[in-house]
Amino acid sequence: MNKTVTFADGTKVPALGQGTWYLGERRDCREAEQEALKAGIKAGMTLIDTAEMYGHGKAEELVGQIIKETDRSRLFLVSKVYPHNAGRSHIFKSCEASIKRMETDYLDLYLLHWRGSVPLRETVECMEELKKEGRIRRWGVSNFDISDMEELWSVPGGKNCEVNQVLYHVASRGIEYSLLPWMRERGVKLMAYCPLAQAGGLRRGLYQSPVLTEIAKAHEATVSQVLLAFVLGREDVIAIPRTGKKAHTLENAQADSLALTPQELAMINRAFPAPTRKVYLDMQ
Ligand code: NAP
Repeated sequence: MNKTVTFADGTKVPALGQGTWYLGERRDCREAEQEALKAGIKAGMTLIDTAEMYGHGKAEELVGQIIKETDRSRLFLVSKVYPHNAGRSHIFKSCEASIKRMETDYLDLYLLHWRGSVPLRETVECMEELKKEGRIRRWGVSNFDISDMEELWSVPGGKNCEVNQVLYHVASRGIEYSLLPWMRERGVKLMAYCPLAQAGGLRRGLYQSPVLTEIAKAHEATVSQVLLAFVLGREDVIAIPRTGKKAHTLENAQADSLALTPQELAMINRAFPAPTRKVYLDMQ
């Protein structure tokens, strides 16, 4: 992969990774999904995002099944803890269960999936302990808006948060107004979920957009690739598209080498402008 993101400790990851929501749930799709993920690893998409929530652990199990042939040090495995498991009484068990399902020894990144009722101070304390025990290499959060991040920054150890995973795609650019600049100033990486707007499902007509189809045509590319190139064009941003199809994985991998011109970005900005005021965080 050409585009990479470097963490504070020097760890370099591909800016283009793989999502796993809904994968591993259907037995009849399992083989195709395994092939898709394996092809992604082969193409350099060695960052894999999953969560204990996805298929009640089935997606983590799928990841465990496909990483066996790959040197663990080449992989960057991300999982997420449910908010209701993010307190002292459950998080250690949850983390162990995720590690076991993924048939690995540690997680490269562990995220609080979204904010719940467990005090942030308690979650942070536990995350730091998991780090000390070597069960996770680093931790972060997901679906945190700027007020949540500010609160996190005020608790002891909160500033050790390395990632905020939020929804971001061409047609949902709310985070550009204040959250993304806030994170950049503090070195918190953005992991963009739904970078394909769920194949357009989150924004009707996205894949038929005249602007996106014109840009795709100019590069002999697809709209999916243009959507990914837009997200990957931002510095320090990781995109985690999900697919259960090998052909789509290979197509997505090529987006890593697609550079949009300033004129094309201007066309996108006109068709899908970033907001000029604070808007609530978009979520899935
Ligand atoms: P997405 O990646 O934007 O879109 C996935 C959809 O796009 C699937 O239906 C897939 O279908 C299709 N697709 C993928 N590549 C394609 C291609 N080249 N051409 C046409 N269709 C293509 O949506 P997402 O899965 O919701 O988000 C990505 C990942 O982010 C998730 O899997 C998950 O790991 C993470 N996530 C995190 C949160 C959170 O709260 N932290 C929330 C949502 C998602 P096919 O299988 O048919 O290719």
